[in-house]
Amino acid sequence: MKTFDVDALRKDFPILDRKVNGRPLIYLDNAASSQTPRAVVEAVDSAYYGRRANVHRGVHTLSQEATAAMEATRSKVKEFINAASSDEIIFTRGTTEAINLVAASYGELLEPGDEVILTVMEHHSNIVPWQLLQRRKGIEIKVVPIHADGTLDLNVYRSLFTDRTRLVSVCHVSNVLGTVNPVAEMAAYAHSHGALICIDGAQASAHERIDVQAIGADFYAFSSHKMYGPTGIGILYGRRELLEAMPPYQGGGEMIGHVSFQGTTWADLPYKFEAGTPDYIGAAAFRTALDYIDTVGLDAIAGHEHDLLVHAADAMLGIPGMRFFGTAPDKAAVISFLIGDAHHYDTGILLDQLGIAVRTGHHCAQPLMEAYGIEGTVRASFALYNTHAEVDAFVAALRRVAAMLG
Ligand SMILES: *Cc1c(COP(=O)(O)O)cnc(C)c1O
Repeated sequence: MKTFDVDALRKDFPILDRKVNGRPLIYLDNAASSQTPRAVVEAVDSAYYGRRANVHRGVHTLSQEATAAMEATRSKVKEFINAASSDEIIFTRGTTEAINLVAASYGELLEPGDEVILTVMEHHSNIVPWQLLQRRKGIEIKVVPIHADGTLDLNVYRSLFTDRTRLVSVCHVSNVLGTVNPVAEMAAYAHSHGALICIDGAQASAHERIDVQAIGADFYAFSSHKMYGPTGIGILYGRRELLEAMPPYQGGGEMIGHVSFQGTTWADLPYKFEAGTPDYIGAAAFRTALDYIDTVGLDAIAGHEHDLLVHAADAMLGIPGMRFFGTAPDKAAVISFLIGDAHHYDTGILLDQLGIAVRTGHHCAQPLMEAYGIEGTVRASFALYNTHAEVDAFVAALRRVAAMLG
């Protein structure tokens, strides 16, 4: 493991110096969006100032430079997740669009009565696209429940398969519970029943090494903005033979081979799925974010975040009325909680007055809230730049909140 100097790393994130409500910002909303290091902002800046031009169609130098910068990210992503080919890396607007692409395009190949398995802990972006497909195609959706600690009930998972099961779509890590799901095991089981697996990696990709081939992922989706990268860019990985068999998701420029009113042909992968001008500057700068993660070291980041998680959870246990949601043995650095009967929103407002940013509410996971019989939680989530001192300040603030609201 590389040496990890959090104080030095914090200097890469200028926003961490600002004050909120007169207090130093403590940013614990990383599961919603992480902050951006200077190098990534500079990559965006220098692209706007130095080589702004549309990609792919240009013979001129700026266009070629812009294209090369975007394609360099595609190669970097291929390495980062160990895909077999960069043709399997599709740029999207984010995880949400990536899953919508799979549901719309792969979904086009499904027949009425075909079954898709989801879990109760999914983000709305891995539920609603399948419900849209259900309306369009008459597919059936089955849902895997959880145990009280926030782990999936794998016995039920296995029992849901029938000869109509076509696809499982599951999060790698829950954005509410932090549960790390056994996706490789789930993929193997799906494959043994002739089904595919689509993995929502939005919460995993910045915190653990993803190897899509080792997992056996057929599709894997994630977002740049949760990985210290620019907003508005995401990735869909798909296995080549699947992507080749799937119809285009959107039509337009970039995705065609030849257009005529007698019939149009599609471009080769990956461009078949990239209609229109992409966010070529965001895509290019995403490489800088991935390089940054590699320089710091994903194992070192994961180790640091795990230390913060253990420290925070231990200290929070001493707060009267503390209720945790999600206590899986294999858990990412996300803590969802309620203090007694205090409303999550009130807790969030009081923390904000103390300069502490947490997320409150249903976290785009209303079925999961329903399973726990609650409306929402307070969620603290950690990134590489959070410190033990910040955790101590957060826990001290929670004590004050508990005294006021308890
Ligand atoms: C954030 C998140 C999403 C949605 O990502 P977008 O970047 O908003 O498209 C999907 N699933 C999980 C688990 C998430 O945490």
